[in-house]
Formats: sequence, structure tokens, C-alpha cells
Amino acid sequence: MPIRPLPLLLLTASLLPATAAVTAVAAPAVLASTATAACEVVAPGALEVRMKPGAKALEPDASQGATKDLLQGREPTSVSRPGSTTVPTWVHVIAKGTSAADGALTDAQVRAQVKVLNDGFAGRAGKDAADTPFRFALEGVTRTVIPAWYDMLPGSTAEREAKTALRRGGTQTLNVYLFGLGGGLLGYAYFPQQGGSSKPWQDGVVVLNESIPGGTATNYDEGDTLPHEVGHWLGLYHTFQNGCSTANDRVSDTPAEGTPTTGCPVGKDTCSAPGLDPVENFMDYSYDDCMCAFTPGQAARRDAVWKAYRA
Ligand SMILES: [Zn+2]
Repeated sequence: MPIRPLPLLLLTASLLPATAAVTAVAAPAVLASTATAACEVVAPGALEVRMKPGAKALEPDASQGATKDLLQGREPTSVSRPGSTTVPTWVHVIAKGTSAADGALTDAQVRAQVKVLNDGFAGRAGKDAADTPFRFALEGVTRTVIPAWYDMLPGSTAEREAKTALRRGGTQTLNVYLFGLGGGLLGYAYFPQQGGSSKPWQDGVVVLNESIPGGTATNYDEGDTLPHEVGHWLGLYHTFQNGCSTANDRVSDTPAEGTPTTGCPVGKDTCSAPGLDPVENFMDYSYDDCMCAFTPGQAARRDAVWKAYRA
């Protein structure tokens, strides 16, 4: 990233309300189904995790240090009907210039990313995928050109400035930030907070712009980082959370998993508990063409978390 003189950056940032364009986009609340029959299975590849090769930072702990499970370890026994909750969604495109190479995504690219999100939550991405209560209606897109924000990291001053300036709505609104995210990260999110966060600006989901559908992030270019991070935003853990322990990820229909998955090693089985590792699950770290499903238990957990923390 080119380093610009500090006074210029401050000037640019201070002009945000005038320079950040907001584009209303028709809400694709209900999208036509283009489901693939099943996950496309690829041979196990080189060792990689959900971060890009050479990542210098780990995906932050979405729980922000919380020591108690969001649902106190309780597994919900019921779930709202599929498609019954529409989440207003804002997408914030942060670029370092006005060209495609600068991260200036088009409306079509944004819509394609939101479609992958809706397909994932509607069970349209895989043959055994659960439909969930959630659909995401794109309310608008903001566009901001501030080089200092382009590759900002979680916990940085830039993150606080950018999200404070751009965030729309409250706890029920999904804010998605697409930019050049540094550290080799593909994305990160924050869990909802009981009684509201002391840092409400943090709430939302960050996704590397290169990982959108058709992007340049090799093996992570089908847009599956967004459903993964929105899973966290609605209280899901990784499927490998707590390893092979009984509690694992607090969802009993995702088999226990001892380690994050790399590539797409179908048949991977790291725990003696029943079931193969859920390498096809959106909440693992597999390649995009490997992950395609949430489970009914994950749908029920998110529904309960939504009602308790966001609705
Ligand atoms: Zn994650």
C-alpha cells in the first residue's frame, strides 16, 4: 500500500461524509435458486488454513474474551421456520482508488457476494445443507476511498474510525465491510454482546475483497468467507472449537473435530466420537469449493442467539 503523507490522510478522512458515496441497491431478498447438487470435492491440497498462505495474523477470537457460551451451553430444541427472518444488510466497499485493482468493487460484484450469503443460509449450496430462518436483504452500498483504511487490521485505530463512520443501523442490521484486509486474513467478525457492546461500532463482518465470488484469492474465491463470518455474527463457533471435547462447538449435529481443516480432505476424522470431520461445513476452514453447508443444529443455535441478542 502506498504510504501517503499523514496530513493528506487526515484531510481525506475528515471529508468522509461528503466523499463517501451511498448507492441504493435493489434488495434481492428472495433469490432464484441455482443450487449445485453437492459440494464440489477437490483433492487435498497444500497445507492452508482459512487465512491466506503466509498469514501473519490469526482470525480474531470473535468472543472478545467472553468466558461463557452465548447460550450458557444450552442447545435450542426448536427453530423458526426457514426464511422467516430478513436481516437488513449494508455493504461498505473501502478502496484505495477508483479502479478495480484499488478494490472499487462494482454493484454486480456486491450482489453476487450477497447471493452466495443467501444461498448458503437457504441451504442452496449443498445437497445436505440446512435451510435456516435467515435471509439477507441488501439495503445499500457505501463507497469510500481512503487509502489508510484499505488494509486495516482488527483492533487498529483505522478499524475504529472506519466502522464508526460507516456503520448503519443497530444490532439487527448486518454491516459488511469489503476491503484489502491485511495480515493474510480472509475475514473476521464479532459475536453479539449481552446488553449491547461497549464498542458498538465493532459489530459487523469484515471480508477480504479478493475472496468475493470470482476474486483473486486462490482457493478462497467463491465468496464463502461471508457466510462463515456471518455464522460467527450469529453466535456460531468453528466446528473445531474446543477440539474433541464433548462441548466442542455447542452444536451436537456437527461431529467433533480436533483440528481446522486445510484443503478438502474428505474422510478426515480427528476425533474418536462418531462422525467424520465436517469438512463441508461453512464453519470449518476448508477451501471454498469444499464448504457448502450449515446443519439444522447450527440453524437453531443462530435462531436462538438472534432472539436473545439481536432481535
Ligand atoms: Zn472463523
